[in-house]
Amino acid sequence: MMSREERWSLAGATALVTGGSKGIGHAIVEELAGFGARVHMCSRNAEELEECRHRWDEKRFQVTVSVCDVSSRADREKLMETVKQNFDGKLDILVNNAGRVDGKIATEYTARDYSTIMATNLESSFHLSQLAHPLLLRASIAGGGSIINISSIGGLIGYPGLAVYGITKGGMNQLTRSLATEWARDKIRVNCVAPGAIKTDMTKKMESEALEQEVSKVPMRRVGTPLEVASVVSFLCMPAASFITGQVINVDGGRTISA
Ligand code: NDP
Repeated sequence: MMSREERWSLAGATALVTGGSKGIGHAIVEELAGFGARVHMCSRNAEELEECRHRWDEKRFQVTVSVCDVSSRADREKLMETVKQNFDGKLDILVNNAGRVDGKIATEYTARDYSTIMATNLESSFHLSQLAHPLLLRASIAGGGSIINISSIGGLIGYPGLAVYGITKGGMNQLTRSLATEWARDKIRVNCVAPGAIKTDMTKKMESEALEQEVSKVPMRRVGTPLEVASVVSFLCMPAASFITGQVINVDGGRTISA
């Protein structure tokens, strides 16, 4: 029988988080590292990565970084090679967080817009999960290795101007259920966290009127913080969540349950 401290800890675990230089991914890296995990993180901007690494060193978090554009298949393969070497061929946690939003009305999407957003948000989550599978098979965390996909409530309800984004996020929700079913026998849990509007660079890009309108539909009447998403991600990876798999958990102040 594990102690309560062991069930609510990530001490000794290893994790890969994509898109951790800012926003939600940044908070996820800090939360996982704060619970004792060793984390590898990637994004596209080498300078920002180095700044993050420096700050985390000062906080004594065990975080390594590398440049990777998750929309590139070759970059994803290189990333997983780095992770394999860093963590001796095993991985306990994969967080597919990196994503982009391209607001455009559906009639204006080009073929290139479509393929870029699909590759960044959805294809990367599927392919990185495939690449991580052999490493997750060797996970040593109690309760089994975990994949956490960061989708969006835009994968559940429709937003005008976000048709393709919505497809990618709805796809991530279903990917979660499919892999959870297939990989349960491998002791790999797969869950999804679907945020509502969260205060990050992504929402800064939204017009203030659109954001105000969104907040007016949230029962809690506010946007969320990156940490409020990161805490759910951490819980789902812990031994405390060992019987939870295939779930999509909305972190949205009640946005999706109100009239
Ligand atoms: P931010 O724009 O604040 O941060 C995105 C992070 O991902 C950055 O570190 C960015 O670094 C990295 N990134 C973006 N594109 C790529 C890429 N192609 N390859 C590697 N890294 C990349 O976004 P958020 O924190 O707001 O969003 C994180 C996730 O949460 C996304 O999947 C988003 O869809 C989802 N989400 C966000 C919501 C919100 O309201 N903020 C609501 C619902 C879901 P760089 O650009 O330097 O590569």
